[in-house]
Amino acid sequence: MNRRLALLCPRGAVDVESFSRGRFDADPQAVYDRWSEFTAWVAEHAQDIEHAEARPYDESDLGAPVPAPRQVFAIGLNYRDHAAEAGLPLPENGPVVFAKFPSSITGPGAVVELPSDAVDYEAELVVVIGTPGHRVAADDAWSHVAGLTLGQDISERVVQFQGPTPQFSPGKSFPGFSPIGPVLVTPDEFDDADDIELGCTLNGRRMQQGRTRDMVFTVPRLIAFLSAIVPLSPGDLIFTGTPAGIGWARDPKIVLRDGDRLVTHAEVIGEMTTTFIAAAR
Ligand code: ZN
Repeated sequence: MNRRLALLCPRGAVDVESFSRGRFDADPQAVYDRWSEFTAWVAEHAQDIEHAEARPYDESDLGAPVPAPRQVFAIGLNYRDHAAEAGLPLPENGPVVFAKFPSSITGPGAVVELPSDAVDYEAELVVVIGTPGHRVAADDAWSHVAGLTLGQDISERVVQFQGPTPQFSPGKSFPGFSPIGPVLVTPDEFDDADDIELGCTLNGRRMQQGRTRDMVFTVPRLIAFLSAIVPLSPGDLIFTGTPAGIGWARDPKIVLRDGDRLVTHAEVIGEMTTTFIAAAR
């Protein structure tokens, strides 16, 4: 597929640029700026798409569903059980917000270099903005969402905690520290987009399992809070926080090691594999 925008059907992947005869670009990033036009076109051609030429694919063919977002927000302490394991009080007046710099984005099947022996995993639901919005009301927030995908908020804990105040953004923005994928799923594909089961395994051992209904701040509340300050653009990402089970909160701590295989999963969205290698010394 060579990182081309595709619609995924039970029979395989339908190449959007070719099927639309060039109306939509092959670059997945470009589609978010025309999201409502694109979804209307898909709805209009649903029958033809079902019979279009489709190529079989597997995870290794897929890239990040949003390869170059303008802004990547992330939320800390957004599950009660995770705040408890971190020994921190729940945020009361608004979510804990930080940035993951866009150069840290990678896709499913990525091989990520470990800059130290203090790197941790955090399985998260990731919101992708479709319709731009500034000062969006929570009641209207889902209409601004293009879809949902999975992410790992990979975190280097020494950089994160070494200063007089925590430094979330740099500790979570090394190359490859924001894998997302394997696909983008529109909110209507879920029985309940506010209650999605997600988690991860490390070398086959279950490390995290949670449900997004346990979030402290729901997806609509996060969009309302962020957009009250920052105008949201098509393709912007929100990493919505991680449930309990991170490695750093365990005794003894679990950190990612050379050769480790992390599989992140969520219902409907599927599975994303990330492999880690030690930095060359
Ligand atoms: Zn996180």
